[in-house]
Amino acid sequence: MTKTRLIIIGTGMAATRLVDELTRRVPEAFDICMIGDEPTSPYNRVLLSSLLAGELDESELTLKTPDWWSQNNIRILTGERVTEIDKAARCVTLANGTILNYDQLVLATGSKPICLPLPGADLAGVMTFRDLADVAKIRAAMKPDASAVVIGGGLLGLEAAYGLAKANVKTSLIHLMDRLMERQLDAEAANMLRDDISARGISFHLSANTKKIHGAGKVEAIELMDGTVIPADLVVMAVGIRPNIDLAQGAGLTTGRGILVDDQLATSDPAIFALGECAEHRGIAYGLVEPAYEQARILAAHLSADSAAYAGSVTATNLKVHGIHLFSSGDFLGADGSDVIVLRDRGLKTYRKLVLKNEGGTTQLTGCLLYGDTSDGLWYAELIRQQTPVNSMRPLLAFGRDLATREAA
Ligand SMILES: Cc1cc2nc3c(=O)[nH]c(=O)nc-3n(C[C@H](O)[C@H](O)[C@H](O)COP(=O)(O)OP(=O)(O)OC[C@H]3O[C@@H](n4cnc5c(N)ncnc54)[C@H](O)[C@@H]3O)c2cc1C
Repeated sequence: MTKTRLIIIGTGMAATRLVDELTRRVPEAFDICMIGDEPTSPYNRVLLSSLLAGELDESELTLKTPDWWSQNNIRILTGERVTEIDKAARCVTLANGTILNYDQLVLATGSKPICLPLPGADLAGVMTFRDLADVAKIRAAMKPDASAVVIGGGLLGLEAAYGLAKANVKTSLIHLMDRLMERQLDAEAANMLRDDISARGISFHLSANTKKIHGAGKVEAIELMDGTVIPADLVVMAVGIRPNIDLAQGAGLTTGRGILVDDQLATSDPAIFALGECAEHRGIAYGLVEPAYEQARILAAHLSADSAAYAGSVTATNLKVHGIHLFSSGDFLGADGSDVIVLRDRGLKTYRKLVLKNEGGTTQLTGCLLYGDTSDGLWYAELIRQQTPVNSMRPLLAFGRDLATREAA
């Protein structure tokens, strides 16, 4: 049997999950070559925060044992950058000049961290937080008497600040918005988070805009628009990501914010697919790993000639800061016309908000936000994802799975 030559560009979490799915389905059908420009074998990027915080060793991030690749007949090229795709000739060129031919190509090139174009942003000591190399740089600068400023109060910024503060670095966090994690939390939960993060020794500047990074050769301070100057030996920019679409654009594939894909993850060229953070599906380029895993499952099925369609993902977020439990999924703010159930206990520092939609007599959960006790988070997320009618459990829904399902049964 002639094998399909499948090239995957990127050795990140989406690419690794895809080969995992493919080898489980049709190991003999493909001749797979995976190419990544990071020097290490694939690792769990989500756990970089735990690595930075000193809670895990680098070896614990590895996704596959060294033998796995050869046992599954997968050729993996690390430390190699693809510089060009020739759609007509169906080949890719590597930076070292090697040309590799494909029958089918998958782009899993992830995202790039956004660097604010501030005066001083090119000074030594200004860093991003995206890969193992970034973590090594930040850790090298994490001296106990150092001062750090993190720009960005989203998930990544908070996890970076936590890691720095845990190493006794004097840490300040600057956020443009008036509350932390505004894409995942409402004002009440964001205030609870701010209190818990402050208790870990991190100081905040909310509604703050950065004007300039000062320093002679290396960073010395950050200046805000209101004139506040914060001394800093290192600055971590965690202000967002941009899908990495350079190769796709160079090849003339249709792109928007990400590489445009249909429900089979096919790009504008039927022999080329994209998944993970570089892909844009129905107007959304996801920045989380679960959608990438769902896409990998669908793409593996499609490449194995099974019918499968990706309909988009309901996302869920939690924060990896020891002792802080938060979980948010779906429409956590509550769109017009929805019902909101809130359960709070200030003494226990717990807050639970459920958002419900009622249509034609059927009630569904459309969003949830849990702070303090997140034990039911995955169950709520599943109800949201499955669009399960919750009419019968509604009276006890806010009290969690055990009570709600017992009464409904
Ligand atoms: C610190 C941190 C914490 C996170 N925490 C969470 C979390 O708690 N929950 C969550 O859901 N998500 C989290 N994420 C996001 C999650 O890690 C990503 O969604 C996921 O890794 C995306 O996988 P990907 O394969 O699409 O992209 P990536 O993992 O970025 O992989 C893309 C790979 O392609 C390589 N590449 C790009 N261009 C080329 C080229 N031309 N040639 C060769 N190789 C190339 C890149 O170098 C990279 O190795 C976190 C991310 C970070 C950085």
